[in-house]
Amino acid sequence: MTTLSPILKQATPVVVDHAKGSWIFGDDGRKYLDFTTGIGVTSTGHCHPDVVAAAQEQVGKIIHAQYTTVMHKPLMALTEKLGEVLPAGLDSVYYANSGSEAVEASIRLARMATGRPNIVAFHGGFHGRTVAAASLTTAGTKFRSGFSPIMGGVQIAPFPYAFRYGWDEDTAIDFALKELDYLLTTVSSPKDTAGFIIEPVLGDGGYLPTPPRFLEGIRERADRHGIVLILDEVQAGVGRTGKFWGHDWADITPDVVITAKGLASGFPISAIAASGELMAKAWPGSQGGTYGGNAVAAAAAVATLDVIARENLVANAAERGRELRAGLEGLQNDDPRMGDVRGLGLMQAIEYVDADGNPDAATASAIQQAAIAEDLLLLTCGSAGNVIRVIPPLVVSAEEIGIGLDAFARASKAIQA
Ligand code: PMP
Repeated sequence: MTTLSPILKQATPVVVDHAKGSWIFGDDGRKYLDFTTGIGVTSTGHCHPDVVAAAQEQVGKIIHAQYTTVMHKPLMALTEKLGEVLPAGLDSVYYANSGSEAVEASIRLARMATGRPNIVAFHGGFHGRTVAAASLTTAGTKFRSGFSPIMGGVQIAPFPYAFRYGWDEDTAIDFALKELDYLLTTVSSPKDTAGFIIEPVLGDGGYLPTPPRFLEGIRERADRHGIVLILDEVQAGVGRTGKFWGHDWADITPDVVITAKGLASGFPISAIAASGELMAKAWPGSQGGTYGGNAVAAAAAVATLDVIARENLVANAAERGRELRAGLEGLQNDDPRMGDVRGLGLMQAIEYVDADGNPDAATASAIQQAAIAEDLLLLTCGSAGNVIRVIPPLVVSAEEIGIGLDAFARASKAIQA
């Protein structure tokens, strides 16, 4: 009998029959509240009727209109729609299938545009599983180890992870900015540095919002040295943090934005956006791929962006996020294991620590598993695996947030006992 490879590590034993909105219906007859959203993908909830209708309609017209062979209307419509939400000046867009591919494309673009070799990424970042993206990923050694040599020309700079160091945020930011300058004077000269790549909220690395002052400091150094600033918005973008882009929390405009996950509510598509001037520095034919910018995925992305605007889902993410955060902080008051509760919008997390303040992965994992018994699906993350992340769909209701918090409280208690 053929079986699925054990390479895939399963977070839950659930086998899905179907799903709707915030809910997954298992083939075990149970109904689960899905606060994983397929790792932050099903932004408009599972099977939103508009997304389903757009995809179904497109399937009957053309499924695969290979975009370097023929152009298709969904991709043209998506490009126009993205123009309504992209930062000013980022008026040129290229499409791929996954976050990792878009990260690769951005690295290629930064290197071609500057003629410089090095990329600086930040400690704890997650940028994907392909070799180049994994080379930029330091959310845990499991993403890198065992397949060296990985891509060269990558330098990792400190991230202001204040909670880990036991510092206040300003001290952590000052330290990380000084270290970045130190790196640029001792390891990777600006004349060898093509790009900085950073997430607006470290995702798999622990759901750590990147402090606005840190992003602004990176922007200032990018400007000073002609380095391309790439914002990896794959997990934090498209409304998740309660603003359309995660970097909207800071006063910056990136040179390149990468988006995927929530963009098409579950269909695989990613986009990288930059100014036409920057894009023109990469030569035609230097990027591409068989499936990139698929017509059905593009139609689903257009429908997703329409739903997000029409149903005010960015505002919903902010409001429901506040409720979720308040509920988690309420639980934290009586639970010393919940060392840090943090996040933005509907991207919230709890970092678990033991009595000595050290990372406690066993408790995080036990509570995540106990939540399944309470019909609540959650994921863990963090370099030590000691963080539970809570990622409801942007359509989540106040009532569902309440149901989720109650289930989470019961799961926490079950492990405490
Ligand atoms: N960047 C970030 C910030 C991500 O969260 C992820 C996926 N978790 C990726 C890149 C890679 O995306 P994909 O899995 O679609 O390749």
